[in-house]
Amino acid sequence: MDFEVIIVGAGPAGIGCSLSLRRAGIENVLILDADKIGSSFRRWPEQMRLITPSFHSNPFYITDLNAITPTTSPADFVQKEHLSGHEYADYLNAVSVYYELNVRQNEKVLQINPGLDSYTLKTEKKVYKCKIVVWAGGEFSHPKTGSFPGAEHCVHSSAFRTWEDYKGDEALIIGGYESGIDATCHLANLKKRILLLSNGEPWNADHTDPSELLSPFTRDRLLGAMKNNPGSVMLHGNTTVTQVNRLSDCYIVETENGDVFDTKHRPIIANGFESALTPIKEFFEWKGSQPQFTDEDESTLHPGIFYSGPSLVQRGSKFCFIYKFRARFGVIALTIAKRLGYPEPHLEDDRKRGFLVDDLECCTNCECAVDSEAETVGSES
Ligand SMILES: Cc1cc2nc3c(=O)[nH]c(=O)nc-3n(C[C@H](O)[C@H](O)[C@H](O)COP(=O)(O)OP(=O)(O)OC[C@H]3O[C@@H](n4cnc5c(N)ncnc54)[C@H](O)[C@@H]3O)c2cc1C
Repeated sequence: MDFEVIIVGAGPAGIGCSLSLRRAGIENVLILDADKIGSSFRRWPEQMRLITPSFHSNPFYITDLNAITPTTSPADFVQKEHLSGHEYADYLNAVSVYYELNVRQNEKVLQINPGLDSYTLKTEKKVYKCKIVVWAGGEFSHPKTGSFPGAEHCVHSSAFRTWEDYKGDEALIIGGYESGIDATCHLANLKKRILLLSNGEPWNADHTDPSELLSPFTRDRLLGAMKNNPGSVMLHGNTTVTQVNRLSDCYIVETENGDVFDTKHRPIIANGFESALTPIKEFFEWKGSQPQFTDEDESTLHPGIFYSGPSLVQRGSKFCFIYKFRARFGVIALTIAKRLGYPEPHLEDDRKRGFLVDDLECCTNCECAVDSEAETVGSES
């Protein structure tokens, strides 16, 4: 056996999970990445920032929301509250250098073959054998592109490296969640006129789960962009795009309500990403577009293949932010340690700092947000 555990992907999920494994006593771990450590973050538009704020609150057992270990802090590392993609990738790199992680970069995993009690991973360069695989391949390489007929005429928001590359004087954006509103803010500040079509109205939504509504950071920036550029932003909520057609001199965008919009420039589609498990979907059971997991984030079909990252769904809740999916690093580490016959690891500190959350009742049934209209404070979770 070459390694006890191979982790595919050196983003926050892969790097963070490997350090939880180490705290559980498992050292014989290899991390493989098709590109570089944190490469998804290096492909973000240069103006984009993490929407989740960073603050070095670690000494009070409240670890920085974007940290991938209980004792590091991106805020402390970069001295900023909202890091850019490059700054966050630098943090990931610094963590892996400091802890001397065994990462092989520029080595894409092409195939996983199950054996009797092991897995063989074929990369572009080698073949490796291991007992356990943790898939941490991320969503960023899988933009949703086929949501409606004619979507191929649009450009996905993740294709931009800087919003300054957008040459038109007006932009039609499809999608009103974080990415669509982020694009709206930057383009409005670059003096473009924006028409945004969204099937919901996240800017007006009220929900206890922060994944279901615009972050305060983005809402604040949207209000600022609208104030500083009066009349430049038009938000059309509850408008589902059904088709985009390309004519010789413009694009025609049709909606479910029968509205028709035309624009000179390729519409920008900001409708998110497919599951991170897309490249290995045959190893997981699916209900529609949702992969199924055991209570320990393992495949229900192939014991020994775990998943770590934002596509994790437990009890109908998506663990899409770093502070959410890091809560499961300890659960995965504990399960693997037991499976490999290690002595029971002491992960009390991980539990205390939110890196080992096995009580899913709390994080999937959140009623703890305070209604700003209400006079009383909601129940604690
Ligand atoms: C635009 C955007 C903004 C976001 N903003 C926030 C935010 O503000 N706060 C927050 O908490 N979360 C945010 N998220 C969600 C989440 O934190 C990110 O998606 C994060 O990158 C997930 O980490 P990851 O390690 O799963 O994936 P990634 O960071 O994408 O890392 C995956 C790695 O796997 C490698 N890989 C993929 N396939 C293979 C293969 N076959 N072989 C080898 N290597 C492979 C890739 O090269 C990549 O380096 C955001 C997500 C997106 C898309």
